[in-house]
Amino acid sequence: MSEQPQAGLSFRQSVDHMVDQAIGLMQLEDGLGETLKACNSVLQVSFPVEIDGKPQIFTGWRAVHSDHRLPTKGGIRYALQVDQNEVEALAALMTYKCAIVDVPFGGSKGGLVIDPRKYTSKQLEAITRRFARELISKGYLSPAKNVPAPDMGTGPREMGWMVDTYRQLFPDDINYMGAITGKPVEHGGVRGRNEATGRGVQFALREFFRHPEEVARAGLEGTLKGKRITIQGLGNVGFHAAHFLQTEDQSLITCIIERDGAITNPEGLDVEAVRRHLELQGGVKGFHGGQYHGDGDAMLEQDCDILIPAALEAVIHQGNARRISTRLIAEAANGPVTFEADAILQERGVEIIPDAYCNAGGVIVSYFEWVRNLAHVRFGRMEKRFHEARGQRIIEAIEEATGKPVSEGMQKDLARGADEFDLVRSGLDDSMRQALQAIIAKRKEMPDIRNYRMAAFVIAIEKIARSYRDIGY
Ligand code: GLU
Repeated sequence: MSEQPQAGLSFRQSVDHMVDQAIGLMQLEDGLGETLKACNSVLQVSFPVEIDGKPQIFTGWRAVHSDHRLPTKGGIRYALQVDQNEVEALAALMTYKCAIVDVPFGGSKGGLVIDPRKYTSKQLEAITRRFARELISKGYLSPAKNVPAPDMGTGPREMGWMVDTYRQLFPDDINYMGAITGKPVEHGGVRGRNEATGRGVQFALREFFRHPEEVARAGLEGTLKGKRITIQGLGNVGFHAAHFLQTEDQSLITCIIERDGAITNPEGLDVEAVRRHLELQGGVKGFHGGQYHGDGDAMLEQDCDILIPAALEAVIHQGNARRISTRLIAEAANGPVTFEADAILQERGVEIIPDAYCNAGGVIVSYFEWVRNLAHVRFGRMEKRFHEARGQRIIEAIEEATGKPVSEGMQKDLARGADEFDLVRSGLDDSMRQALQAIIAKRKEMPDIRNYRMAAFVIAIEKIARSYRDIGY
């Protein structure tokens, strides 16, 4: 049986301690570190919504950690365990995340205490629209200042309701679409946003495996092909990461952990089939393509090559960190490894690709969506046919010069102009590659940096500190 996390630091303290460690490796002027860590402002709202004929009170927060860049950015989560501490910690992570992947936003985060599965779609719409009105009227939601996005328990549907609420209140704001990202594509969303965080996890791992020295440092070798992966949480992020790794990189998803337990198969599970089962049955129990285990937490400790926690924070803590048996952890969730566990894992030589980098795919593509909304034009609309015509001319030139026909497959590739989906994916790939290269280089450059998390935080703090110095604080 797995143990409960031993009472340790709060999520907020955990993030602050990690940042303190990074600051300790840098030469920052007095007071700048404290300024960087401070949460700029937090709004708490409580509002009634009529549910089944009776008013019910809902409580939520939106925290702005740093507005050194505007708008501030970060998701809104719907979950029962949301509280101010969590929202502040997540807002801080957003600040560092945006800086690490060069997205020009400050950090923010929101949360509402609710179990969304207990409400009908109509009720959720009323609750979401009311929450959005509260945020808008208090200056915590607008295209210029604070732009929410989906997070745990929310998705394109909720973002659609929120942007429509903003539009109704400000019909003259020509940039109203930019008030929210992660919207449905028919309502100003960008193609590729829904899969973006999971896709980003895949791109992070692909880039990692392009660096044999780093792969060896983790005690691994080769490519992603055949690597045994355990994934915790088959929500939007976990599903897409697992699905792409399985179908495009031939990794083996040997264990999937969900709320009701885990399912394992040493030959690799069919991720899409597990997801379908999960949607129909509400859990993994009863899935035929693998073996069921009731104690999901214990399965986190099972031997694997790569562990991808893609659910809640603090799932790897001082109570289980010594028993985690993997070489590499890719943090698809925010804060899955506590400060205490981080130290234990480092001592044991387990490498961690940290959350603030690993799950940044969502906010990277949110940035593209926001830019698209302000530009009022779909990516690729102007140049697609132009590139197709040029590709056609290249084919003709090759055929003329060689006297041989270009193969049909090659023709298809060359004479295809990039559409929005291609461009978003390529922009995401490039951002994830560049950021990991910078993290690896920073770790090499500063011998005191002993893990990727510190390297990522040092990079983020350098950038934010520069911005504070330039504009004052
Ligand atoms: N909720 C996501 C995150 O934690 C996305 C935030 C965004 O797109 O603004 O990174």
